[in-house]
Amino acid sequence: MKDIMIKLENVTYEYKSYIDEEVLTAVKNVNLEVEKGEFLAILGHNGSGKSTMAKMMNGLNMPTNGEVYVMGMNTKDEEKIWDIRAKAGMVFQNPDNQLVATIVEEDVAFGPENLGIPPTEIRQRVDEALEIVEMSQYKKHAPHLLSGGQKQRIAIAGILAMKPDCIIFDEPTAMLDPNGRLEVMNTIKKLNKEEGKTIVLITHYMDEAVEADRIIVLSEGEISIEGTPREVFRHVEKVKKLGLDVPQVTELAYELRKEGIDIRDDVLSVEELVELL
Ligand code: ADP
Ligand code: MG
Repeated sequence: MKDIMIKLENVTYEYKSYIDEEVLTAVKNVNLEVEKGEFLAILGHNGSGKSTMAKMMNGLNMPTNGEVYVMGMNTKDEEKIWDIRAKAGMVFQNPDNQLVATIVEEDVAFGPENLGIPPTEIRQRVDEALEIVEMSQYKKHAPHLLSGGQKQRIAIAGILAMKPDCIIFDEPTAMLDPNGRLEVMNTIKKLNKEEGKTIVLITHYMDEAVEADRIIVLSEGEISIEGTPREVFRHVEKVKKLGLDVPQVTELAYELRKEGIDIRDDVLSVEELVELL
């Protein structure tokens, strides 16, 4: 049997305006299973419901209809909510909004302190978490003096210190420079491949989505394309119609094919294209 980390069952989410009682359905009747150890990327244009869906995956948003389960625990079960949030941690776009303390190690300790973990174990967890994100040498530094990529890695360490099985990233590289993006993506890949964490990554960078095991594309709150990166990006026109890009090399292969050059329609890396040509 498959080991399921997160399950959405007929999930709908509505925002209700208190002023005019208008209802906006941000997520519509979505069914989704994220397997333990899987790396899932979520794509979709602005307003397609990605963040709303992500926040349901750790009980920050409760579905209007349907059920969300995290490791078999229903997010509506009030007794389980802290368990759920510790098991499925969330990292957001702006690292500055996630850092709370004036010294790196204190910041990383904040989560486990709130979980009531004993001090000696907290120290151990903080050291371990900083080691994983390769920021141990900055332990005593002030977070506000770090680069964007470093700050985001500290935010990730803060989540890791709570020992989650799954981490949900909502556009974690959107505010970073290319270097910072690379640092954070390398950390995310390491968390998945070496630490065995289940990863849900919302991104609008196609080169990041290509790293995932599976991609879903949201459109108007519904899953409109789903598959491996190869399966998804071979539908160049469909992906573009949804307001998204395909990876540059996939686009190039697509243009070459249109010019009559016989080339596979699921090229994902420069190396592959070079070999095919
Ligand atoms: P994405 O993350 O894909 O950009 P969101 O989940 O943020 O999409 O938003 C989905 C839809 O819900 C959008 O139409 C957005 O305007 C609306 N929305 C998001 N947050 C709120 C909110 N707090 N109140 C009302 N509507 C919201
Ligand atoms: Mg969003």
